[in-house]
Amino acid sequence: MTQYFIHQAEAVFGFERPVSIRLRDGIIADLGEDLAATDQDMVIDASQCVVYPGFVNTHHHLAQAILKGIPAGLNQGLGEWLVSVPYQFWPHITPDLMYIAAKLGLYEQLRSGVTSCADHHYLYHAATTPELEEAVWQAAQDLGVRFVLCRGGATAQGSHKGMKGSTIQPESLSLALTRMEKSYQQHHDDSALSMKRLVVAPTSLVHTSPAEDLKAFAQWAKVRGLKRHSHLLEVGFDEQIAQQKFAMRAIDYAAHCDWLGDDVWFAHLVKADEYAIQRLAQTGTGIAHCPTSNCRLGSGIAPAIAMEQAGMKITLGVDGSASSENASMLQELNLAWLLHRSQAGPEATKIEQVIRWGSENGADLLGLKTGQLAQGYAADLVIYSLDSLRYAGVHSRLQGPVLCAEPAKIAYSFINGKLVVEQGKVLGVDEAKLQQEVNEACDDLISRAMTH
Ligand SMILES: [Zn+2]
Repeated sequence: MTQYFIHQAEAVFGFERPVSIRLRDGIIADLGEDLAATDQDMVIDASQCVVYPGFVNTHHHLAQAILKGIPAGLNQGLGEWLVSVPYQFWPHITPDLMYIAAKLGLYEQLRSGVTSCADHHYLYHAATTPELEEAVWQAAQDLGVRFVLCRGGATAQGSHKGMKGSTIQPESLSLALTRMEKSYQQHHDDSALSMKRLVVAPTSLVHTSPAEDLKAFAQWAKVRGLKRHSHLLEVGFDEQIAQQKFAMRAIDYAAHCDWLGDDVWFAHLVKADEYAIQRLAQTGTGIAHCPTSNCRLGSGIAPAIAMEQAGMKITLGVDGSASSENASMLQELNLAWLLHRSQAGPEATKIEQVIRWGSENGADLLGLKTGQLAQGYAADLVIYSLDSLRYAGVHSRLQGPVLCAEPAKIAYSFINGKLVVEQGKVLGVDEAKLQQEVNEACDDLISRAMTH
């Protein structure tokens, strides 16, 4: 395995002065101001570059990479958008289409600085074939992304009208558990430097499974030491349904189903009030904050600052390209930095803080030894080049990539010590070929959806 030596960066995140970094056997082997290259090292010239830990995207939906800008959903909020976009199309996504969507979605993330992706894959129904999920694992492996598959799905027809109005037959609990057991045996690796993890992730906590099934999922996950994930409180509808159906607050319902804890994180939590924030913080429950998607669907702004002050771990997610068409983790950091300032003033967020949300916090939440530029951590890092007119005039060099956001200019990106992006090119993707495959996939998907 090639041993890399990153030399003479302008700035390195987490360090007062630039350090050189040696990557060996998949980990950051050495860091230091006085470190010198050896004959075994492949030297990477990082002059006019800054080095960040690779970003950890804690909430995505790769299938949505071929559902960008569906016209009917352009001006709809979550409830209607779910009907027009994901629920209309996903039953028609075949394993071949899924592989192409996953490859595109992972490409988008790699080119914006992601090295670890937690994908909330929910395309399961009674007659799903295992190949659909295998396509996702395979794409992650082919692109060399550190990958966490959050296994979604529904075990009830549910209260979302998108699901109710579709032809999707939910899985039974026993079928879901049997299928998950196979994925767990085949793919899950619980080592700290794991490239493949399984997470138990019923699609929407309030809507897609009854309480007894949620308790069974919790138990199943705990026995195997797996983490858990779901959507919660993205819009006010969760609170409304929890009160109507269960006569309790949504957050209390989560507690009632044994779905709060330091092994759990929820996407969105836009409508978490002070009471919910306290319960989440006290139990160590985390959040995947997805600001672009929340803006796009008009859902609101998650109270991330209040959450962090209460002790919650804030992490960032892109949330799939159908409600976040730029599909850029760098934009999520930039927007997270801006959005909370618009509400709470110019000291509400710092660039360093949102970089931590997007890297170290995400890794901690997923239990992965990555997200930090430190000895013994996974060799997952991104080297942004500032050597172009685009960054001319930027005084805060370390902060430059987040300040200026897209388009990113990545010189090199490493995952597990392997080079995955070089001079902006995602290795392992033939761009022209993938573009053609995506175009054909979109045509195929539309024709399938029209004829069913
Ligand atoms: Zn989502």
